[in-house]
Amino acid sequence: MHDSQPVITVNQRGAARLRGGHVWVYRSDLMLPAEASPGALVQVRDERGKRLGSALYSSSSQIAIRLLSSEEITEEALPDLLRARIASAIDFRRRTARDTDSYRVIFSEADLLPGLIVDKYNDVLAMQALTQAFDRDDLRRVVLGSLSEHFPDASVLERVDAHIRKLEELPARDSQLLRGERSSAIFTLNGVRFQFDGLSGQKTGAFLDQRENYAAAAHYARGEALDVFTYQGGFALHLARVCSSVAAVDSSRPALEVAEQNEQLNREGHRCGEIEWTEANAFDLLKDYAVAGRQYDTIVLDPPTFAKTKRAVQTALRGYKELNLRALKMLRPVGILVTCSCSFHVSEAEFLEMLGSAASDAGRSVRILEKRGAAQDHPVLLNVPETSYLKCVIGEVEN
Ligand code: SAH
Repeated sequence: MHDSQPVITVNQRGAARLRGGHVWVYRSDLMLPAEASPGALVQVRDERGKRLGSALYSSSSQIAIRLLSSEEITEEALPDLLRARIASAIDFRRRTARDTDSYRVIFSEADLLPGLIVDKYNDVLAMQALTQAFDRDDLRRVVLGSLSEHFPDASVLERVDAHIRKLEELPARDSQLLRGERSSAIFTLNGVRFQFDGLSGQKTGAFLDQRENYAAAAHYARGEALDVFTYQGGFALHLARVCSSVAAVDSSRPALEVAEQNEQLNREGHRCGEIEWTEANAFDLLKDYAVAGRQYDTIVLDPPTFAKTKRAVQTALRGYKELNLRALKMLRPVGILVTCSCSFHVSEAEFLEMLGSAASDAGRSVRILEKRGAAQDHPVLLNVPETSYLKCVIGEVEN
């Protein structure tokens, strides 16, 4: 019946991966030649011709196919499948992200929609197509139609990551409004207000995956606080409601400018005076602060991904350790350390081991208050380890 649809044969390793519940097959595990057009729906078979399901194909990515279904589905059935998956993703958020106007609506693999991300910032939806398949005009129309049905009052814009389009060999395109008139919004996380602007030169947004960790950090935080790698003030603005002073550091001037504007939106609820925003390299600044004998009661560390590949893990761990060691030394007892890693390649076990080693070098005892991950609207799909990347450990530092 599906003879007209391209068939891709994967080797034993690729087949084992799919049978184990993962959804990716790397190009090196395809039996060549793969004769499918960029972004095509393909039927996947093992070397013996057994059916493994249907997948979306990329002609350029190392991740050559992303499984959509273990059933074989046709191009004609694809729109309905996508609509059903979108509905189910939205349903999941209605159960798990009820108390917020902003959350990730669709999280790619974790919502069985590999290659599609949609974030909601109050009444603006920001969509990202990460693959050739979700860049197809027909599929974009299906996604947009579905989003409009579920969120009739929302504007929808497309956020473009030029680097990803290059990797997927897609023509360059600007971020653009796809539906409605608004491309900016004020949105609220845990009662803290932020600006979102999806299209202006100074693009804003948020690390929505930290939403629940902001609340957890604010729950324990007190005294004099330092937020390292603050970006647009995510943690700092939460700390400002409970701490007596807040200092925040980032190397990006544009990010800090937005952080200051966000501060103005929230001043009334702040317990501390003005937040001290500092533009600096965090590694250098922490060293200077340590030499100057600065001390804090609460420190947040939320660096960018240090390990983009498996090979970079050891270097990444050294970076994490340097930061955590300095922070631990600067905390007054009983201090609160909120320390994060968004590197998928660094496991929670490795991260905790690094932290343990930093604590012993610093001569501090650390009690773990919480081991956390991403907010629930960024679900982890069992058997797809890449969906679990964020670690956030909250510790209480003694002596
Ligand atoms: N905590 C933030 C997210 C941090 S993202 C939030 O909750 O919103 C990582 C940030 O680290 C980015 O803003 C980036 O500008 C900054 N950054 C990257 N390298 C840095 C460095 N060496 N020193 C200081 N900031 C850095």
